[in-house]
Amino acid sequence: RMLSQKVAVSRGLIAQIFTRGVSSQTGSGRLQGKVALITGAASGIGKATATKFINNGAKVVIADIKHDLGRATAEELGPNAVFIPCDVTKESDISAAVDFTLARHNQLDIMHNNAGVPCNTPPSISDLDMASFDRIIDVNLRGVVAGIKHASRVMIPRRTGTILCTASVTGIMGGMAQHTYSVSKSAVIGIVKSVASELSQHGIRVNCVSPFAVPTQFVLGEMRHLLPGLDDRRIAEMIHNAGALRGANCEPEDVANAALYLVSDEAKYVSGHNLVVDGGFTAFKSLGLAIPNEEK
Ligand code: NAD
Repeated sequence: RMLSQKVAVSRGLIAQIFTRGVSSQTGSGRLQGKVALITGAASGIGKATATKFINNGAKVVIADIKHDLGRATAEELGPNAVFIPCDVTKESDISAAVDFTLARHNQLDIMHNNAGVPCNTPPSISDLDMASFDRIIDVNLRGVVAGIKHASRVMIPRRTGTILCTASVTGIMGGMAQHTYSVSKSAVIGIVKSVASELSQHGIRVNCVSPFAVPTQFVLGEMRHLLPGLDDRRIAEMIHNAGALRGANCEPEDVANAALYLVSDEAKYVSGHNLVVDGGFTAFKSLGLAIPNEEK
């Protein structure tokens, strides 16, 4: 009996060792074997998302208008990251980034349209600068639409893939950003729903993620402009204090976690969705029921 127990124990150990061996070979990441193209991934939320995807087994193509920073980011993220110069306002650049991804990896499983710019124009509608309106819409909306278009071009014939776009809480609630920026993000949520409807018949999911304010270069730059004299640390503190959830701040990692879920197979029945990452802000802050900032 002792002998058969010993045999059973050693069989168990061998099975464990074998399973460990197999899982380290095949990988255990939630995006193992997947290929993602992320626009605006040289910094901020896009970079955090690229890092998260790679740590979960994906290969990532970083597409950004900032060439030196994009290359440095790809180098920092290691052999599973590569950089391609891309200005999302040029459809040909987006098309080339999609083709580059296919040529290099032979597949495109995830397209994350994340590149975006803030709006530093005067806040009143009566002062709206239409030329600046066009410039912001060109990046934040037209760039996203072109990204969806070219990802669909390769995903539809393959009947597989998932598309994610970075929208914003400012696209849901008024009074949180300049009109131009808000409208660009509202429209991103709109195109996601519209395209999710068409692409569902091809098995392709389309979603967006809507972060609360995160003190990335994007926001710091905008706030430096609005609040000259304040250093970045103080600005970041102010942004965090504006949040609704006690004891937590909205960080790029939080948005990356939401992105990871939406593009992974765990969200296989989630499409046309806007996943808000805002500590509940848009759910109750407008009613004035949130904790006052001073008490945070
Ligand atoms: P960020 O400035 O760190 O990153 C934006 C990236 O987009 C940069 O690397 C920039 O070079 C790139 N980019 C800008 N214009 C481009 C273009 N024409 N073509 C290609 N790349 C371009 O800022 P972030 O906060 O990480 O912003 C990422 C996204 O998140 C944006 O869409 C932004 O609107 C959205 N967002 C940010 C916040 C926030 O508070 N930071 C909140 C909600 C939504």
